[in-house]
Amino acid sequence: MRRVLADAAWWAGEFRRGVCVEFDGPVIRRVQSIAPPGNGRWLLPTFANAHVHLELSALAGETLPHPGFADWVEQLVQVRRQWDPTDLRASIDMGVQALLETGTSVVGDIDSTGASLLQLRESPLQGVVFQEVLGISGPERWQQIGELLRASSSSTDLRAGISPHAPYSTGEDVYARCVSVAREFSIPLASHIAETREEQEFLEHQQGPLQALFDRWSVSRPPWSDPQTAGLSVLLEAKLTPAPLLVHGNYLHPPTFREIARTGAAVVYCPRSHGYFDHPTPHPATRMLEAGVTVALGTDSRASNVGLDMWGEMSAWRCVDAQVSPERILECAIDGGRQALGLPPAQLVAGQPATFQVAAMQRRISPERWLEAAVDDGWKTKATVVGGQVVAGYLEE
Ligand SMILES: [Zn+2]
Repeated sequence: MRRVLADAAWWAGEFRRGVCVEFDGPVIRRVQSIAPPGNGRWLLPTFANAHVHLELSALAGETLPHPGFADWVEQLVQVRRQWDPTDLRASIDMGVQALLETGTSVVGDIDSTGASLLQLRESPLQGVVFQEVLGISGPERWQQIGELLRASSSSTDLRAGISPHAPYSTGEDVYARCVSVAREFSIPLASHIAETREEQEFLEHQQGPLQALFDRWSVSRPPWSDPQTAGLSVLLEAKLTPAPLLVHGNYLHPPTFREIARTGAAVVYCPRSHGYFDHPTPHPATRMLEAGVTVALGTDSRASNVGLDMWGEMSAWRCVDAQVSPERILECAIDGGRQALGLPPAQLVAGQPATFQVAAMQRRISPERWLEAAVDDGWKTKATVVGGQVVAGYLEE
């Protein structure tokens, strides 16, 4: 039996002072209230990073020139083309390590080759690895996805999903095919939706930097019967179970929020990636929450972020919207992501999996301000425990 003592715990929206958790192998055996031991430790569930591309973890977004979105896409494709399978494997490993070290054990990963799914099965991560397809994906990729899905079990903690990349790269026919694959295998679907102005300009008016890039590549614009609602209407009308993950949604219109909430679809907000592209308007995450939409947090990839640390994402959200409460931000970073990825809420009770993180304060903060400090980047993960195993850091008892 192992034991963790902490000055506080935050679980299922409840903040508790003084807690002792005992676990034996993969399961929590006992949770007790105690007098705070004064060790500056805080116990909370692991984070759920609902949108990341682990295969791009060896990149450094801060070094990629990105005067605009299309320029960034072009740079990314050029760099990525030079990688061999060994580079790809090392890149995925870097991402897995970065997540575990910063308290994330649940992930919504986008995998364009099938390598990430196989590699993550050997890791402690839980969640969904979405198999990504584009309009240009050939029959071999579809065949590979079919084989991966037939070999996948829905009962494991790490499931396969499907992801039509984005409406600017992937047409209505491919979205429809992904919807039917999601139905056939009862798997989750994720897609980048309404991410940039350049994408809107390209889809609706066939002009702008994305159009120029596609012209240079000699790739035609994917066919959409209604470019204004490209992607979104297909996914909402599909009535999928589980409901789809709408990634970014930076330019979704407020009148659609209630419709999104009604279908149960979740939106993944990636605060630092949003900041990276310098969008002219703030992300509507808070308005989405008010409309009843499930909002999850994600980092997106290292190609558009300085790290894969969810503490940094919470802090970035707080920086652009001081009105949203620390509790709400933590809920999105933990249970928002779990719900979006089809996992039950995290619970700190006997009989539940011994999966949690222990965080420590970066500076002295009075207990009344602990929650606020969590989202203001005042805490750091000291140990990540998944199913009773310490998978990163060091667990003091
Ligand atoms: Zn992405």
